[in-house]
Amino acid sequence: MILINHIRMGEENMVKCKICGLEMLKADGCKVSTVFISGKEYPRIPFGEETEQVYPPDDGERCHDCGTLAGHYHHYGCDWEECPSCHGQLLGCACEDVEFNELEPDTDQFLEVAHRILQEHKTAFEQLSMGGN
Ligand SMILES: [Zn+2]
Ligand SMILES: [Zn+2]
Ligand SMILES: [Zn+2]
Repeated sequence: MILINHIRMGEENMVKCKICGLEMLKADGCKVSTVFISGKEYPRIPFGEETEQVYPPDDGERCHDCGTLAGHYHHYGCDWEECPSCHGQLLGCACEDVEFNELEPDTDQFLEVAHRILQEHKTAFEQLSMGGN
């Protein structure tokens, strides 16, 4: 019961990227490095490496929209990401069939957190039941 509530609360308080599963404002950047456009795979364009450098970011600066750090990939749905095919705004360009490889939520980071929460509750439970005996 406690465990379930703990995880639910955590999810509600975080804004997670739909394709890499990371918390957008805390992760360095998106883990998904390519995008498929009309069936062809393109490397994504990291924040700060756009063709037209309108507002080049400083080192350590985060994207105003998705929170990625300069030099890392934008998270899903960011309005700043450049389309690697037509070099327009990926969200608004005319390219069709834009698809990302969604990463399964079994990344090391995800497992690590899940494991830690389980351990914490297991330890608390063991202490409780030991006290009862
Ligand atoms: Zn992401
Ligand atoms: Zn962004
Ligand atoms: Zn495009």
